[in-house]
Amino acid sequence: MIEIRYAGICHSDIHTVRGEWGPVPYPLTVGHEIVGRVTEVGSGVTRHAVGDRVGVGCMVNSCRKCANCLAGQEQYCAEGNVGTYGSVDRDGTVTQGGYSTHVVVDEDFVLRVPENIPYEAAAPLLCAGITTYSPLAHWNAGPGKKVAVVGMGGLGHMAVKIAVAMGAEVTVLSQTLSKKDDGLAFGAKDYYATSDPATFETLANRFDLIVNTVSAPIDINAYFRLLALDGTLISVGAPPEPLPVQVFALFGNRRSFAGSMIGGIAETQEMLDFCAEHGIAPEIELIDADAVNAAYERVLKSDVRYRFVIDVDSLR
Ligand code: NAP
Ligand code: ZN
Ligand code: ZN
Repeated sequence: MIEIRYAGICHSDIHTVRGEWGPVPYPLTVGHEIVGRVTEVGSGVTRHAVGDRVGVGCMVNSCRKCANCLAGQEQYCAEGNVGTYGSVDRDGTVTQGGYSTHVVVDEDFVLRVPENIPYEAAAPLLCAGITTYSPLAHWNAGPGKKVAVVGMGGLGHMAVKIAVAMGAEVTVLSQTLSKKDDGLAFGAKDYYATSDPATFETLANRFDLIVNTVSAPIDINAYFRLLALDGTLISVGAPPEPLPVQVFALFGNRRSFAGSMIGGIAETQEMLDFCAEHGIAPEIELIDADAVNAAYERVLKSDVRYRFVIDVDSLR
């Protein structure tokens, strides 16, 4: 049993509760960026103890037997992972997420949250952190690599911080320059407005990796043209609408278009330890639970700096 202390607000929560990704098994409590303390453990539990500071991300179980699970890629479980909310659990009930006071999770899907990560800022690492860390690690962001991050919201600002910590040269592609000072403070070298057509000429053929975190459809072909030889554009943003691809935009420079979904449990622990070691934490606005609807409206207007986190004590 975990007594939840803080819960982040991910744009996926908003897509879900608004039914943008399909039917919703109401009543549903969302929230998959969870941190708190262990208050009780079952008799067979060995990985966590009462009092430990722990986190829960986007999934709470998987089959544990398929090749992907055995490879530590539980998010790609062949039988589908059990999502933290809105999934049918092994006992047939619908899982419920983190905008709540307590949660019970199998120990194998519970992460250790290092004590030197500020408590109130740790929750967004459990989704925004791992969702950006995983593709950056997989596609080898690091010294000598030019990485662009499209959209500087919850995921995007973590993509910037993590890619910078990995040693890459990072450019932010945001709708406007209104957050430029923040982007540069997070370690980005360059910051361009995508509302300015000149941006797409200036940056043509430049990047090894582009991480698209935008929650809405964008002209993806315009971004492909910013990739250098063998460059890859990874979409982690999950708009409900399709992104039509012009294959000709992929032909030049032998470009690739990829997707990526959260990260495995071991990799999530690796990301938490990486952030602790590099002194990286999300930028948050702490809110009480009664401010969630107003926070959703601000997220939808790209007016989030850079993650809303619910102080779960306001629910007690
Ligand atoms: P967010 O905080 O709302 O950030 C999205 C950012 O995209 C905004 O801050 C804005 O950045 C930009 N943006 C929004 N609307 C736009 C538009 N119409 N045109 C161009 N840019 C726009 O959302 P988030 O929580 O980071 O989540 C981002 C997306 O990732 C969501 O779709 C979410 O569901 C998805 N997601 C996927 C995974 C996965 O496993 N793949 C995991 C978590 C979340 P600027 O103001 O800088 O332009
Ligand atoms: Zn999320
Ligand atoms: Zn599996």
